Amino acid sequence: MAEELLAEREKPAPRRKVISSPYLHRLQRRHFLLFDVAPIAGTVGAFAFLAVRPFSTTDLVLLLSMWLLTGLGVTVGYHRLFTHRTFRAAQPVAVVLAILGSMAGQGGLVSWVALHRRHHEYSDREGDPHSPNLSGRGFKGRLRGLAHSHFLWMRRHEYPNIVHYAPDLLKNRALVRVARYYYHWVVLGIAVPALVGGLVSLSWTGAVSGLFWGGLVRIFLLEHIVWAINSFLHMFGTRPYESRENSRNGAIFALVTLGESWHNNHHAFPESPSFGLDWYRLDPGYWLIRLLAAGGLAWDLKTPSEDRRAAKRMTETTPAGGPSA
Ligand SMILES: [Zn+2]
Ligand SMILES: [Zn+2]
Repeated sequence: MAEELLAEREKPAPRRKVISSPYLHRLQRRHFLLFDVAPIAGTVGAFAFLAVRPFSTTDLVLLLSMWLLTGLGVTVGYHRLFTHRTFRAAQPVAVVLAILGSMAGQGGLVSWVALHRRHHEYSDREGDPHSPNLSGRGFKGRLRGLAHSHFLWMRRHEYPNIVHYAPDLLKNRALVRVARYYYHWVVLGIAVPALVGGLVSLSWTGAVSGLFWGGLVRIFLLEHIVWAINSFLHMFGTRPYESRENSRNGAIFALVTLGESWHNNHHAFPESPSFGLDWYRLDPGYWLIRLLAAGGLAWDLKTPSEDRRAAKRMTETTPAGGPSA
């Protein structure tokens, strides 16, 4: 009996997929306040500051350029390259994309990848970190689901075990180093527009304005664009392809989301570097990948074949709400 107990104890424990600890929850709460709540206050501050200094062309350029750079860092780097390995890229390109993605303030690289892989593993089922479809039925349940999936889930959640979900990233020392300096990259992403704003206008008000529009407002806008994919595009939109969860396409958001709004396409073909799949579906993230490929900096693009696409296309006989898993 004693031997059996001993043998039982010596068996390696199965690796846990998620970790939960007061320390991790404290970190999550701090991240939520610093990078999710503070940009809201920053955006209010930016509008208040218009009384001191009117919105200038420099502010507009800083807002758009920083949004585009960090947005591409998230969709092309964090999402299409590191999470789904939809293509391969030269190491310097990977490092730059990882830094730009970090500047978005949506979490460190390794955590983001682990959380998103878990989202694909459990999409719209128990275990999905941010499904809008698990908070009850009826209007109230849907509203609660939207609030949870868009924003509130980040206050406190189970942390995916990165050894289980992102072992490939942990082996890449350069990327682990980028991930370790995550907070520095976010600060840099706010400091650069402040510096440029100050230098262009040669005034401290120009620096503050640059900090607001190129930094905090830009973080605020990009966050809500990305979160809307987690929330609204798992509830509203079209479903051209069969996939086991409730993901949707939102064509009108294609440009502003840099192609991410083809979310049903993406869940149906997570290995595809193109989310639009057809050339006429706007997908700026994919345009960048094609550009990198043309320059020899990206290769091995895993675009799905026409046959594979045809096999997953919804037909008249596909039951409403999608096929079962
Ligand atoms: Zn994905
Ligand atoms: Zn999704």
